[in-house]
Amino acid sequence: MPLSPPLPAVPAPHALPADAVLAALDVDPGAGLDRDAVAARRRRFGENALRAPGGPGPLRRLAGQFLQPLVLLLLAAAAASFFLGHLLDGGVICAVVAVNAALGYAQEAKAVTALAALSRTMVATAETLREGAFTVIPAAELVPGDIVRLRAGDRVPADMRLLAAKSLRIDESALTGESVPADKVAAPVAADAPLAERACLAFAATAVAHGAGSGVVVATGHDAEIGRIADLTAGADALATPLTRAIARFSTVLLAAILALAGVCFAVGVWRGEPAQAMFMAAVALAVGAIPEGLPAAVTVILAIGVSRMAARKAVIRHLPAVETLGSTTVVCSDKTGTLTVNRMTATEALAGGALWRLTDGAFAPDAPASGDGPAREALEALLAGATLCNAAVLTDTADGFAGDPTEAALLAAARAAGLDPERVRAAHPRLAEEPFDAARMCMSTLHARPDGPGRVLCVKGATEAVLALCGENGREPAFAADVRRAAEAMAGRGLRVLAVARRELPPEVAAIEDALRRGGLAFLGLAALLDPPRPEAVPAVAACRRAGVMVKMITGDHKATAAAIAAQLGLGEAGAPIAAATGADIDAAPEADLPGLAARTQVFARVAPEQKLRLVRALQSLGHVVAMTGDGVNDAPALRQADIGVAMGRGGTEAAKEAADMVLTDDNFATIAAAVEEGRGVFDNLVKFLVWTLPTNLGEGLVVLCAVLFGLPLPMSPGQILWINMTTAGSLGLMLAFEPREPGIMERPPRDPRRPILGWALARRVTLMGLLLLAASFGLYEWELAAGGSEAQARTVAVNVFVAMGAAYLLSCRSLSRPALSLPLSGNPYVLWGMAGAMLLQLAFTYAPPLRDVFGAAAIGAASWLRVGGAAVAGFCVMEAEKALYRRA
Ligand code: ATP
Repeated sequence: MPLSPPLPAVPAPHALPADAVLAALDVDPGAGLDRDAVAARRRRFGENALRAPGGPGPLRRLAGQFLQPLVLLLLAAAAASFFLGHLLDGGVICAVVAVNAALGYAQEAKAVTALAALSRTMVATAETLREGAFTVIPAAELVPGDIVRLRAGDRVPADMRLLAAKSLRIDESALTGESVPADKVAAPVAADAPLAERACLAFAATAVAHGAGSGVVVATGHDAEIGRIADLTAGADALATPLTRAIARFSTVLLAAILALAGVCFAVGVWRGEPAQAMFMAAVALAVGAIPEGLPAAVTVILAIGVSRMAARKAVIRHLPAVETLGSTTVVCSDKTGTLTVNRMTATEALAGGALWRLTDGAFAPDAPASGDGPAREALEALLAGATLCNAAVLTDTADGFAGDPTEAALLAAARAAGLDPERVRAAHPRLAEEPFDAARMCMSTLHARPDGPGRVLCVKGATEAVLALCGENGREPAFAADVRRAAEAMAGRGLRVLAVARRELPPEVAAIEDALRRGGLAFLGLAALLDPPRPEAVPAVAACRRAGVMVKMITGDHKATAAAIAAQLGLGEAGAPIAAATGADIDAAPEADLPGLAARTQVFARVAPEQKLRLVRALQSLGHVVAMTGDGVNDAPALRQADIGVAMGRGGTEAAKEAADMVLTDDNFATIAAAVEEGRGVFDNLVKFLVWTLPTNLGEGLVVLCAVLFGLPLPMSPGQILWINMTTAGSLGLMLAFEPREPGIMERPPRDPRRPILGWALARRVTLMGLLLLAASFGLYEWELAAGGSEAQARTVAVNVFVAMGAAYLLSCRSLSRPALSLPLSGNPYVLWGMAGAMLLQLAFTYAPPLRDVFGAAAIGAASWLRVGGAAVAGFCVMEAEKALYRRA
C-alpha cells in the first residue's frame, strides 16, 4: 500500500479528535493495519527501538584494555627497555601487552554478548490489533498506525494517541520527572498544551499505573518523545559489580605498594653496587610479576558463566552484581499466589443464603442437609451469577481450560457446577462498565444493564472486608458483618482464598462505576472459597532455604488466615510453633523502631500493600539482612529496587516490575529462587577458588625477584618470562575453576556475610604457603640446573616450568577448598584436564619451539630437569593437600 504524505508526522495528534488521527494514519480502527501496510511502514520508519543502551563501544573497550595502570606501567617499562638497548625485553613486553589486551578484550566481549543475549530473551511485547485480531507482538515491531491495548503494569511501547481510556493513569516520571501518575483521557487538548498536559497521549517508556485503555501509535523509536532525550540510555557500567570494583581497588593499592617495593629493590641493588640497568630490569620484573593483571577480567568471566548457569535453571539475571549477592542472601520474601502456590484454583466451598455449600465431584451440596435445596439454592445461584458477571475470565477448550485470572476462572467453573451457563448469564446482563481488580482496593466492580428493564446492576467481588464495607450504609458495616467475617475466617483457616460478592440494582441514569460505588448499600450475596494448593516443589525448596540459613517470608495480598494456613503447609514456621503472621495494618501501626523486630520474627505478612513491602525490605536491611524480594505489580517496583535482589515474575509480572528487578523467574516459581541462591553460592565459591589459585603465582614471582635482589643473586626469570607465566596460566588453568560443580552441602552452610573479607586468614595462609613453595622450588631448581652444568637460559627455563607445573598441580588441589583433591572425580570438571594439557603444550612450545624459545630467552632442557620439575609439582601438591587436611580438622 503506498503511503500518503501525512505520515509520519501527524501534526499535533493531541489536538485532533481520535478519528482524525486514525484517518491521517490511514488505519481502520476495527481491523488495524494489514500485513502490507505494516511491511511498508516498517521499511520507512524502521524498528521501534532506541539504539543499544550506552555501554562503551568496541573501540573504547579495546582502549580500556590499555588504559589500566599496570598496562601503562608495562608500556613505560618497555619504552625504558628500548631506550636502554634491551630490544628483546622491550619487544617481548610489547607483544605480551598486545596479546593480553586481545585476550582481555575477547573475554570481555564474550561476557557482554552473553549478557545481551539474555536480556534479549525478555523482549517487551504489545497487544496489537492487526488484520482484525489482537495479538501479542514484540514491541520492537510496532509501526505508526498500529492500535495497541494498554493495561496497568504495561510499559507504553511507543508514543500513542489514546482512543479509549478507562481510569487510565500513567506514570510519566521517566519523561517529565513528575512522580504523580497523570490521568489520561481520549478527548483532545489544546494544540499548545505542554507535554505533561497532553492527556490524550501516552508516551513511550512511561508506565501504566492504573486502569486500561487503547491507542494508536503515532511515533516509534527515535521519533518518540523519549528518543529525543539524549542521555536516557544509562547502564554503561553493566559489567562492574561490587566485587570487581573491590578487586580493581585492591589492584590499585597493590600497584602502589609494589611500585614502592620495586623502587626500594632498585635502590638497594644500586647501593650494593649492581649495575643500574640490571636493577631497573629487576624492578620491572617485580612489578610485572606481583600484580594480578588478569584478575578483574577473570572475575567478570566467572560471574558471566554463573549468569548462564542460572539461566539454565530459569532465573534470568538482569544485573551482574546479583550473581554475587545471591550467594549472601539471608531472607527471601516471596509472594504467595503462583510463586509458593500452583495458582490453579478450584472452588471448594460457598456461603450463601445462610448455608455452607461444599463443591465435591463437580456438584454443590449443602454442608448441613437440613438447610435444604429451597431458597438457599437460589441464593447460591445468585452468588455465582454475581461472581460470573463481575469477572473478566473466559472458559475455553484450551489445555488450561480458561483465559484470564485463575481466581476468576475458578468462579466461572463453580457457576457451571451449580448449573449456570456463564455465557448465558453474561448475555442477559450486557456489561456497561468495568473497574478491573485493584490489589489496593482489593475488589473488582462491573456495571450491567438489567435484563428486565431500563435499570442497572452493579456487581462487586473482592476481599470480604472490602465488600462488606460497600454493603453498609453511612460508612457502617451491616449487622450480619460479624457472622460473615467469622465464616470467612473459618474458610481462610482451612487455607482457602475467600471472595465475597455483592450487588445492587440502580436507576438507569447511573453510568459511572465510581458513582455507583459511592452510593454503597449493596446486597451481600455470599462468599466463595477457592483452593490453591502449595506448589509441590516449593516445600523442599523452603526446607532447603531454611537449612541454608535463609529465612523465607510470605508476603501476600490475601487473608491472614489463608496465608498462615498455606505457610504451615509449606513448612514456613519454626518447628512445633504456630506461624507468626501479621498484616499490612500491623506494619503501618508499628513504630519505626519496632518494625525491624516485627519483620524479623514474622513469617507471614498478609493484606500487604506495595509501600508496606518497601518498609519491610528497609526494616530487614537495617538488621544487616541481604534481602531478596519478589514482586509482579507496577507498584512493587520501589520495593524491588530497594531489595538487594529484586525478583520479578517472568510470566505473571508486569514490564515495570521486570525492569526494576535484578532477576526474573521465567517460571514464576519459588523453587527457582532457591536454585538461584544455590548457584550464587557456587559461583562465589569458584571465585574464591580462583583467587586462592592465582594469588600465590603473583606472590611467588614477587618474592623471587625480591630475594634475588636482596641477596645479590642473579634473577631466575626475566620480566618477559614472568609475563609469559601470568598470561598463559590464568587463561589455560585458573579460569577452568569457573566450571567447577557446586560443592556438596553448599545449602547446608550459613550465608556468606558480605562484610567479611573474601579471603579469611586461613585462605591467606594457604596463599602465602603456596607462594613460599613456588619461591623455594623455582630458586632451588634454578640453582640445581646451574650446578648440574646448565646454562643460565636453561636454568631460567626450569624456573618458569616449575611455576607452571606447580600451578597445574595446585589447580587440582584448588578444585575444592576443603575436600581432598583425590576424592574429586575428574569427570566433575573435565575442563581442568583440558587446561592442564593446554598449559603443558604451551610449556613445550616455550621450551623447544624456536621462535617462542628465542623470543623469551628460553632453552631446551633435558629429561632429568623435567623430572625435577615434575617432582616439585607433586611435592607442592602434597604439601598443599596436607595443609588442607589440617585446615579441615581445625
Ligand atoms: P500475592 O500474589 O501477593 O501472594 P494474592 O494474589 O493472593 O497475593 P491479591 O491478588 O492481592 O493477593 O488478592 C487479595 C484479595 O483480593 C484476595 O484475598 C481476594 O479476596 C481478592 N481478589 C483476588 N483476586 C481477585 C479478583 N480477580 N477479583 C476480585 N477480588 C479478588
